[in-house]
Amino acid sequence: MMEVASRKLTGPASRGLALLLVMLSSILLAGCDSGPEEHRFQGPIFGTGYHVTAYADLEEDDVAKLESGILAELERIDALMSTYRDDSELSHFNRLPVGVPFFVSPATAEVIRESKHIAQLSQGAFDITVGPAVNLWGFGPEGRPEKVPDSSTLNEALTRVDVGALRLEDGILHKTKPVYVDLSGIAKGYASDRVADYLEASDIENYLVEIGGEIRTHGHKPDGSPWRIAVEKPVSSERSVQRIIDLKAAAVATSGDYRNYFEADGVRYSHTIDPRTGRPIDNRVASVTVITKRCATADALATAFTVMGAEAGLAMAERENIAVYFVVREGDGFETRMSSSFEPYLDEPAAEEEA
Ligand code: ADP
Ligand code: MG
Repeated sequence: MMEVASRKLTGPASRGLALLLVMLSSILLAGCDSGPEEHRFQGPIFGTGYHVTAYADLEEDDVAKLESGILAELERIDALMSTYRDDSELSHFNRLPVGVPFFVSPATAEVIRESKHIAQLSQGAFDITVGPAVNLWGFGPEGRPEKVPDSSTLNEALTRVDVGALRLEDGILHKTKPVYVDLSGIAKGYASDRVADYLEASDIENYLVEIGGEIRTHGHKPDGSPWRIAVEKPVSSERSVQRIIDLKAAAVATSGDYRNYFEADGVRYSHTIDPRTGRPIDNRVASVTVITKRCATADALATAFTVMGAEAGLAMAERENIAVYFVVREGDGFETRMSSSFEPYLDEPAAEEEA
């Protein structure tokens, strides 16, 4: 039940992790009886998976309580924000006609507010009303298309892409145009934040939460070392590590087109859609990794930067002091570029970098 209901926030189950977690701690700790105990919880959610690692000395009952608390948070968010469920709060709102006021939950309101903020910051590169275009390319609830959509269909869909038509005041949401809201580009990050908040409220200080590649960490491993996270090499054929990042208390999100894409006549189309053209991005960006405080922000920003491309993206990152790491296709290989605030997170000296 839970699996079926929860598979649906972000689409096909084939969406893999964009990040590999490097958690050497459990190996290092084997046979060592100092330090708090390790607890791991995992399962399917939002068409992908969640993984939580926490270090704390807990009674057996408390472990079970913690796990059901985590699940309750995830299911609550799915029931609010999934566009794959007709009965979600978001689906109710999406069916409402223009102008009808809707009392929205504080959680959904928060995600919409953050989405509008990132839309503004990125000059429309991130847009939660991009859904009609996403669906045309088969990355939404309607599934894979047979062929590339024609331009009149695309242009019609584009008339319905406009986050400015979403108005949120005092917990009341309404639309001024028939827009369709899709929170898939931010909800996994938001869910990671909510699980992190729940763990902190449960007095867990040292944890790592990961949902579909979007990560929140706090504290450190029992030996005092930081959480280490590997940015995966952006190829779909193998899983290998591009760079290692050191994190203490932060969120990290990655966008990439190397695991979820649609191919027609030998052309590969990314699942990230440029809301300004209604078309999959075509800017050689293979992956983008963002580190911020809140994971919802990191998640949305990673998509925004993917749409913007390295040039415009790095300019915005420098201006706004955002830590971002781009992997860009260059000939047969890859080139990497990062903003100056990303550099302190790197584990190895930049000279070792191999494109
Ligand atoms: P990634 O890990 O690559 O960021 P996500 O699952 O976080 O992937 O986001 C991809 C989803 O976001 C798409 O399936 C689509 O529903 C939505 N999306 C695509 N393009 C945009 C965009 N420009 N702005 C907002 N959401 C988008
Ligand atoms: Mg994302």
